[in-house]
Amino acid sequence: MAVKVKSREILQMVTAYPLGKSVLDLQNEMGLPSIINLSEIENVFGCSAKVKNHLTHQLDHLFTYPDGSARLLTTKLAEFLNVKSDQLFIGNGSDEIIRLLLRAFLNAGDEAVMAEITFPRYKTNVTIEDGRPVLVPLIDGTHDLDRMLACITENTKLIFVCNPNNPTGTIVEKNKLEDFIAKVPEHILIVLDEAYYEYATSEEYLQSVPFLKKYSNLVILRTFSKVYGLAGLRIGYGLMDSYIAAELNKVKEVFNVNQLAQAAAIVALEDQEFRLECVERNEEGKHLLETELTKMGYSFFPTQANFMMVHTGQPGDIVCRELLKHGLLVKSGAALGYPDAIRVTISSMQDNHYFIKCLKNIENRNGGVS
Ligand SMILES: *Cc1c(COP(=O)(O)O)cnc(C)c1O
Repeated sequence: MAVKVKSREILQMVTAYPLGKSVLDLQNEMGLPSIINLSEIENVFGCSAKVKNHLTHQLDHLFTYPDGSARLLTTKLAEFLNVKSDQLFIGNGSDEIIRLLLRAFLNAGDEAVMAEITFPRYKTNVTIEDGRPVLVPLIDGTHDLDRMLACITENTKLIFVCNPNNPTGTIVEKNKLEDFIAKVPEHILIVLDEAYYEYATSEEYLQSVPFLKKYSNLVILRTFSKVYGLAGLRIGYGLMDSYIAAELNKVKEVFNVNQLAQAAAIVALEDQEFRLECVERNEEGKHLLETELTKMGYSFFPTQANFMMVHTGQPGDIVCRELLKHGLLVKSGAALGYPDAIRVTISSMQDNHYFIKCLKNIENRNGGVS
């Protein structure tokens, strides 16, 4: 039946996020007993056992609406981060906060500057709001802050800096970022996406929260989806001037963050031991992968996150397909702007070793990396 209704014209420019096949479908299709999924950037160590335990006690309250302003969590986070409660905005994942920022602040025709290869939701949401994404190429997988500054025009409304950057894992040096924040005019929002904040252990990583005092145009995004292992519940937060948070409250769904997510986030925050253990295990895994890949002659972007972009010297699609035969699922760089690379999630030592072993196996059959 021919549909006569037409969606907004701009949607011709937008494609739905490619969700791909489910792991189970892939497993059945390939006839594999199991698949180790290192293609999504999730916490392979799960979430805190305390969260699981706590959630079973929350089930009696499912008939009530959640707290639309997430008061308990906001108070907890404000204390934890040493900011005021009205500087916090809790979202249905930080993904939602990206969307709401653009909903509230981007006028049609406004420009939003971002890296050419970064988290794809920035560009999509800017387009949906009839804004113009301005894409700045990375240098060696890293944000080119000078060039981003140079791209500011009178139409610029917003700048995204993803630090560490997804999908490359790189960070920008702290002096450079500090200098950048100081140079961006005050009427332009700087959105610093720190989804992998907790994993960044480098001395060169900027501790950005204190800068909120000085720069009213700074927004910092964090999430419970990554190191806290709560991706399935959808909860993230933003730190910002109270005026910006108040504007976001005008455009959000009333009950945007569900009750279980709010309860889980509070307990997750209390269990810092779990977080530290995950970061430590990630450091060990990262070290192993860096050492082994270097020995094998592979190069990769220096990562400060829980994933790694590895240059494979041959199409990432092919490497992915070969790894999948061994029951290992990684992300091809083809869809991420690096056709000759793969992105792999840093995992348990056992899985990391298995990944290296499979990579060696492929290499032997192909006569080495080129
Ligand atoms: C995962 C991710 C997010 C979104 O996380 P939520 O699950 O929506 O909180 C935001 N930014 C980057 C760079 C990410 O990788």
